[in-house]
Amino acid sequence: MRILLTNDDGVSAPGLALLERIAKSLSDDVWIVAPAEEQSGTGHSLTLTRPIRLRRMGEREFAVSGTPTDAVMMALAYLMKDSPPDIILSGINRGANLADDVTYSGTVSAAMEGALAGKRSIALSQAYSREGMGDTVPFAAAEAWAERVLVPLLAEPMPPGTLVNVNFPALAPDEVKGIRVVRQGFRDYGRLRIDRRTDPRGYHYYWFGLGTAVETPGHQTDLEAIADGFVSVTPLHLDLTHEPSLTAMRQRLAGDAQ
Ligand code: MN
Repeated sequence: MRILLTNDDGVSAPGLALLERIAKSLSDDVWIVAPAEEQSGTGHSLTLTRPIRLRRMGEREFAVSGTPTDAVMMALAYLMKDSPPDIILSGINRGANLADDVTYSGTVSAAMEGALAGKRSIALSQAYSREGMGDTVPFAAAEAWAERVLVPLLAEPMPPGTLVNVNFPALAPDEVKGIRVVRQGFRDYGRLRIDRRTDPRGYHYYWFGLGTAVETPGHQTDLEAIADGFVSVTPLHLDLTHEPSLTAMRQRLAGDAQ
């Protein structure tokens, strides 16, 4: 079983080092192709307007100067072209990727790219308890629970075009209540906080950060599972079509729509 690891926090992030330890307990054929620098919030973006640099860090470890999607592309279409991975694991992200986070998340998007390529792909993220923790975010829950989630998930094939989004709660391992398979939730809008600051020359600049949103998590969602102290596991798919609108919209556009 050949496993490719990537992330969006960068090749030197502690969450990736932890994921490497976990993956190596599952397989002795583990590759790392990850962004050289942090790429959190870059979503599923692909670099088309700048060159990409590739740096070899070890026998099976590479840093890519682009986004998480660039890293997965570089792995599948170039570095591992003749020895493709069976599984792609992305993370373990510093911070949760719940609800609408999945569309902004480089961590989840790397797994989306894997799913598009027909690979079994899983994104893993560790929630933290408050903003501003930087590199001090504890990964204890992920470390203790990742294998219990991954082993059964990897035992079965996944339907084509799907991926799995896993989040670990910000709790000590023995406080985690278990694992819940749940839907993707939605946050109340307005979580982003924009700080206006002033540079040394007196010009304003702006820094985007995450505020604390008031959340009323829907039942059986990832938000609720994490709030209740469970590991959340959510199967996602890439078809964003809103099925219930198809018929009504065809009727509204009748005559012109085929
Ligand atoms: Mn990140």
